[in-house]
Amino acid sequence: MTNQLIDLRSDTVTKPSVGMRDAMASAPVGDDVYGEDPTINSLEERVAQLFGKEAALFCSSGSLANQLSIRMLVNPGEELITETNSHIVRAELGAGAVFSGITTRTWLANRGLLSANDPLNIARPDSGPYLVSTTAIAVENTHNFGGGTVQPLEEIKKLRQESEKLGIFLHLDGARIWNAHIASGVDFKEYGNYFDTISVCLSKGLGAPVGSLMVSTKERVLKARQWRKRYGAGMRQAGILAAAGHYALDNNLPLLKDDHKRAKSIADAVYAVAPKLIDPSTVDTNIVGLDISSLKITASDLSTQLKEKGVLASALGPKYLRLVTHLDLTDGDIEAVNQVLPQLLQRALVL
Ligand SMILES: *Cc1c(COP(=O)(O)O)cnc(C)c1O
Repeated sequence: MTNQLIDLRSDTVTKPSVGMRDAMASAPVGDDVYGEDPTINSLEERVAQLFGKEAALFCSSGSLANQLSIRMLVNPGEELITETNSHIVRAELGAGAVFSGITTRTWLANRGLLSANDPLNIARPDSGPYLVSTTAIAVENTHNFGGGTVQPLEEIKKLRQESEKLGIFLHLDGARIWNAHIASGVDFKEYGNYFDTISVCLSKGLGAPVGSLMVSTKERVLKARQWRKRYGAGMRQAGILAAAGHYALDNNLPLLKDDHKRAKSIADAVYAVAPKLIDPSTVDTNIVGLDISSLKITASDLSTQLKEKGVLASALGPKYLRLVTHLDLTDGDIEAVNQVLPQLLQRALVL
């Protein structure tokens, strides 16, 4: 079986399954602005516990969970540093500056791969009255625009040790921390150990229609709750959404390993005809990022050609094409992609 259009633009394109919809329909709910939605409350407790943290806050998006997190760590006029291609600086439309008066500086890393020295080299805490002070560092795991890169635990540990000495907080953009866990075997609590705030998404590979959480101390989460309301993002009987999150954690977490296998098989199929475009050993999780700078064709033209063959992919840069595997794909879909994509690449190679 194959889908008519094979959608590899993102893992956000999944639709809630029948089982998930059933769970949503029968969820007990209440007014969450009053703190009275039992399904939201239990999801917040569950995710906080999963990461060994005191509390969590259900959010309508991962961007909101990121923004509430960094707002809790960084004062206006202070600085957050992060990798150049991280979501928090490239895909949240300047929210840190607009809402929280946060300035940013970035370091560039191949595939977004964390090396603790990169942020440590540019961190400038307590910079006095003339220079901007660094108060937090954000780490993205897995790294989305880096191609689903899993961050090495040793580097995370080192970053924690050194940044703690400097009095700098750490935020984890863990939109796909689920994928990192499945690929690395590292426990969620271990990840939780090294970060002051964490954001996670249920709406990516886990297949929920909506939902992210901000995870931290009780005090920060209580304060973030006020800011969430101030932003107009307080929700009422949103337990029907939280129920999808519970369902996703119960059922969909172990399925991520299949997404990873499928992404690897796409990378292998590309490598077989165009080894310059990708090294399959760098495909850690469910994202295949193709660097097509060695081809004459642009990513946007390649994505148009793919679309004509029934495959959707994202042109994220002039020469960067991203394909993401997810829950709603079939084996037939992957077989089709592994025929169509190499064919088009072979054509592009002789241009
Ligand atoms: C998707 C994503 C987010 C959050 O995105 P929303 O669309 O706001 O839910 C945050 N960080 C990373 C790395 C992401 O991939």
